[in-house]
Formats: sequence, structure tokens, C-alpha cells
Amino acid sequence: MSIYPEALCVKKVAAIGKAIFLIFVATAFGAFPCRAQQEHQPDLVLRGTITEANRESYVEVPFRVPAGVVRVSVEFAYTGHERQTTIDLGLLDNERFRGWSGGNKNAFTVSESDATPSYLPGPVRPGVWKLLLGVPSVGKGVRSEYVAKIYFGRAGETAATSTFEAAPVRQGPAWFRGDLHMHDAHSDGSCDSQSGKKVPCPLYKTVEAAAARGLDFIAITDHNTISHFDAERELAPYFDRMLFIPGREITTFQGHANVFGTTEFIDFRLTSKSVPTFSKLLDEVDSKHALLSINHPGLPTGSACMGCGWSVKDTDFKRVHVIEAINGDNADGPLSGVPFWQQRLNDGLRVTAIGGSDNHNASYPPDHEAAIGRPATVVYAANLSERAILDGIRAGHVFVDVEGTRDRAIALMATAGAQTVAMGDSMNVSTGTRIDLSLSLDNLAGAHVELIRDGEVVPFGDHKSVAMQHEQWRAEQVSDGKRHWLRVNVRAQDGRLLVLGNPIYLNF
Ligand SMILES: [Zn+2]
Ligand SMILES: [Zn+2]
Repeated sequence: MSIYPEALCVKKVAAIGKAIFLIFVATAFGAFPCRAQQEHQPDLVLRGTITEANRESYVEVPFRVPAGVVRVSVEFAYTGHERQTTIDLGLLDNERFRGWSGGNKNAFTVSESDATPSYLPGPVRPGVWKLLLGVPSVGKGVRSEYVAKIYFGRAGETAATSTFEAAPVRQGPAWFRGDLHMHDAHSDGSCDSQSGKKVPCPLYKTVEAAAARGLDFIAITDHNTISHFDAERELAPYFDRMLFIPGREITTFQGHANVFGTTEFIDFRLTSKSVPTFSKLLDEVDSKHALLSINHPGLPTGSACMGCGWSVKDTDFKRVHVIEAINGDNADGPLSGVPFWQQRLNDGLRVTAIGGSDNHNASYPPDHEAAIGRPATVVYAANLSERAILDGIRAGHVFVDVEGTRDRAIALMATAGAQTVAMGDSMNVSTGTRIDLSLSLDNLAGAHVELIRDGEVVPFGDHKSVAMQHEQWRAEQVSDGKRHWLRVNVRAQDGRLLVLGNPIYLNF
């Protein structure tokens, strides 16, 4: 059974296209109700009247920001447009000017890391803030009523759907492809300037390349900083077919880990007084309902690349739900993170494997080994929103498309009696129970499949290699009543890894 049943819900999933997922959904998720739509009520509603007396003046509308608020969002509306009233909008915090959008926006947000264009990110301090209303014109004899709804975001709160978008980018359940690890000018990403100099590579180049690769979602993960969120806030409305998930790479002297799903600062100074232990760091991540993934654990560590491998003392792997098993082109070989990840599975933990390009140059062509979207992490999610994608990753409904194609796909399912589960899910099977495996393979003609059981390759029934563009394979296992995990790799004829699947867990 899925460990995160709220990830999918009956209503949304009912629209699913492929029959195989109908089985999956009906059995794995059917019992769980939809999570209630979060009511989004303003914390304050400010109302007032603008008349001819206010023409060509500025009206200050004060409001109190309480302690503990980390984000202030405003929605503004007024009557009398049709009778020549215009009200411009700006904001003063308790110390300084925070922006002016005139008549070009009726909603905006400001926080420490990011703000709607026209507004400045920066500390959100408690005290009296003021909406600044500029009144260039009011119709003769007109009384215009305005209403400003103020929403406060508090530390540790997450957006109901997504940080940068008010609604899912795409509705309905599907497999979505993304890159969860990229760098740009906000850390050590670089590319060639107009004149051919190597310069910090603007974030928009990364976003543009990701969109050109056809990715559904991205997480830009600059090292330790949160300065890139402001640029993402600006770009998200334009790249509105692609989901932006806030990310950063916590980069310590003992290891690197991506954190997804929060824009709040997280202290990265592991082993310092402020973050003495990894558990403390995880407490901080958990308090923000964010998701941590250990990055490239197969890389060596030392003076050449400090903290690139994972040497964090006393790591409580029970609290780590995701590992970047494939970083860039390190799918196999001595730098692969797959053995490190599989060791955790053999230890009896359920951990999702993901991939990330770790791209540091947005202008690499798509066939470059470190190009954006290579590998792609492919997630089965209830819709294309930050919450749904992160829930899908937590649940292990994930495979990694090593070469970042647009269409290679697998789906592994297991049925025993009345139970049917998919990659990432667990089932209890007593001794002697027959388990029917079914594997769909799309756009993998010529490849062959490895079924991996507790780290050992075993045959997938009597199947040899994939002949057609779309195939459905079946195999059978008999439970010995013990704990096992089963997953598949798909390899090309020359042996290179094309797709890495996450496990189905038996008796975990
Ligand atoms: Zn790293
Ligand atoms: Zn990185």
C-alpha cells in the first residue's frame, strides 16, 4: 500500500487513461478520499472609498504584519473603472519602499527570497506596513470602493498547490518528466557570453533549455542560496507549460543534498554550532514540509570535490526518503549512486531513486552527457503541481529515463490475490503466494530487461529482448514470506542503462 495515500485521490484518478493504471489506482488508492481543497481565506480585508478629493494624490492604507509572517500577498480590486477611476498600487513595509506596480497588476507577493516583478524581495518584519494607492484619475462625482485582501504566509507553511503557480500547470494524473538538479548564475553555472567569455549563466537560459527539451517540471538547485527564487517567480508565468519546483543544493563539507518544496532559508552549515548534526538539518527540512534527496553519493570526496560523496556521520537513513541514484551520466560504473541506494533497500528501507543532470552550463546541446534533462526523472502524479510531484516522488512512483528522451517509459505492477501495486508500493505476501508481475515497455525496442531482486539480477520470466515499440511482459514469482524488493533496469544492446525503475516492496 502506498505510504502517502493522500498523493492521489479517487475523483482525479478516475479520469486516468490507461487501463493498467485503473487497476493500480482502484486497488492502491481507491480507499482514500480526496484531500479537502484548502480554503484560502485572507488574513485581513481592507476596504475604503476613493473620491474626486483623492485625485492626483497618494493614499496610504496601513495594516499590521504580525510576528512569524514570512510572506505577504495582496489581491486588489476596485469599482468605477468604467467611470474613469484608476487606482495604482504600491507597497511600503515598516521601514522602506517595497515596490510599485501602478495599474499593471492586481495581485502580488513579497517574501525574503522572492517577489512578484515590480516588488522587492527582502525581510518580512512585523510592524505597520502600508499599501500605497496612487490616484491619477477619478470620474466626476464617482465614489470608487476598493478592497484589498491581505494573505500572510507563516514559517513552515507550504503552498496549497505550488509555490509559483496558483493552480496545477496541467490537470489530471499522468507520468511527468523533469530535471531535479541544475545550476546557473546564482551558483556555479556558467556559459559563453556574447563575446565568448565564460560568464555566470543567466537562470533564464536554464529555464529556456529545459522548456526546449519538453520537460514538464524543473527544480533549479543552486548551492545553499535562495537568491534564484526571485528569477523563477518572474519566469514561471511566461513558461506556463512547465512547473517550477523550488529547490536548492544543501552543500556541506560532508555531503550534498537537494531540498525541494520550500523557498525559506535553511541553514546549511552542518557541524557548526547552528546545525551540529544531520538530524538537526532534517528537523529543519521536515518543519518546512520539504523533501530532501541525498545527491551523487557515488562520487568521491576530498580536496578535488569537497563533500561530493556522502560522508555525513550518523546519517539516520530512516529519515531519508530520496536518493539521487543517477547524477548526470553516472548511471553505471564506479561513480554511480545506484549501489549506495540499493544498499539502503537491502537494509530494509523504502527510498525513492531519482536522477538529476547536475547541469552547470545551459548551452550544452541535448546529446551532451551533462545536458539539461539528462537524465529525466519521470513521476506518476495526480496532476502537474509541486505538491503532487513531490508526493509522487515520496511514494516512489518514479522511474529514471537515463538519456532524457521524451517517450521511453516503463510501468511495473505486481498482483497477488486481490492486491495490485505499482513501483514504490508495498504488499504483504505470505509463503507460497503467487505474485504476477506485469511490465509495460514503451519505445524501448531492441533493449533487454533485468529484473533485480534484492540487488541480484534474475530472469524476467522467459522474456529475452524487447521487439516492439509497445510491449507488455508477464512473469511470476512465488513468495517465501520474507522481505524482498523487486525492480527493473532496461538496457540497450551494448549494455548501457536506459531506464532505472523503482522497487515494488514485498513484506517491508
Ligand atoms: Zn553536488
Ligand atoms: Zn549540483
